[in-house]
Amino acid sequence: MLIPYARQDINEQDIQEVVAVLQSPWLTQGPAVQRFEQAVADYCGAKYAVAVNSATSALHIACLAAGLGPGDRMWTSPNTFVATANCGLYCGAEVDFVDIDPLTYNLSPAALEEKLARAAEKGQLPKVVIPVHFAGQSCAMDKIAALAKTYGFTLIEDASHAIGGSYLGEKIGSCAFSDMVVFSFHPVKIITSGEGGMVLTNNPELYQKLLRLRSHGITREPEFMTKEADGPWYYQQIELGYNYRMTDIQAALGYSQLQRIDEFIQRRHELVNRYNLLLQDYPVILPWQDPNGFSAFHLYVIRLQTDRIRKTHREVFETLREKGIMVNLHYIPVYTQPYYENLGFKPGLCPEAERYYQEAITLPLYAALTEEEQDQVVAALGEVLGVTAVVDSLKG
Ligand SMILES: *Cc1c(COP(=O)(O)O)cnc(C)c1O
Repeated sequence: MLIPYARQDINEQDIQEVVAVLQSPWLTQGPAVQRFEQAVADYCGAKYAVAVNSATSALHIACLAAGLGPGDRMWTSPNTFVATANCGLYCGAEVDFVDIDPLTYNLSPAALEEKLARAAEKGQLPKVVIPVHFAGQSCAMDKIAALAKTYGFTLIEDASHAIGGSYLGEKIGSCAFSDMVVFSFHPVKIITSGEGGMVLTNNPELYQKLLRLRSHGITREPEFMTKEADGPWYYQQIELGYNYRMTDIQAALGYSQLQRIDEFIQRRHELVNRYNLLLQDYPVILPWQDPNGFSAFHLYVIRLQTDRIRKTHREVFETLREKGIMVNLHYIPVYTQPYYENLGFKPGLCPEAERYYQEAITLPLYAALTEEEQDQVVAALGEVLGVTAVVDSLKG
């Protein structure tokens, strides 16, 4: 029996909501998408939400709505999925990376400040910065928002891991600190719609742009048309957009999942507290929790204290997988990917992210993980690391 690092939790209610759409006249973007958007906006305390077919699409149209294009710069964290950086390249912009904080593994505000000061001197400031709330824990958004004000860049939060979390009392997704926030509803994330993503904003102009970009750049609203309408059948394409629409089938699943989000996150926290207790004497660094925030805990990442372990990082990883514990590694520093190396990126750009990559392992964590399964993970890790598992000593 394999224990995955993440998986969805689908119940009978979820299935019934999807079946109801299949029996309705609408399959593609329709009333269920609108209901899902409204529910997520209300849950997060944002004014507007635009559902799309993935977080990758959401990041793409958020960058386009911010006006990112050729000749512009976009900066993000190297400790993320490649999609966060790729969206800048889709727009024809130059992408660059800001090193991570060694405690949170999030984009470091200190490193950002330093890089901005240097870029300002050369007249090479970014137009867009995308901090990523790694593992579900918010970046230091108060500090990053202050830098956005000073240096005048648009701030897009990649909150693919973080729906349901909060920072300084503000729900992630409220856009209290940024222009736009992006969520992912891929099955490994906190809630799922199969595939899906969303952009939230409080800015009505960005909202209108996002609506058009997700559907071919077309508008049916006379107030946005650039010439007079020919008749009631008329629509106008006023910019170049895409077909990034979410289906009502997906939105019904997402809406149903949203009803259980707080339950999911509470369960994740219970499991995290249990991991923290069981692993306290292991030669590993446990996740640091920022007292300013509440993490959605998408991922549980440990770092091996390699000087206290006689095995290599790779050996620990491989042995766990051989034992059916399907650990993972989040993330390979994006700029070390061959595609990015071909763009000219060299190792050494972000030393903290590279050091982290040598030591990090993602252990299984999801709402449906049982305590028995978690005990298996802890015991297997104990065996690999040559320590007596606390589970055993607890059991006497
Ligand atoms: C999953 C993920 C994405 C991409 O999400 P999709 O919905 O699969 O497109 C982007 N950024 C981060 C940080 C992610 O974890």
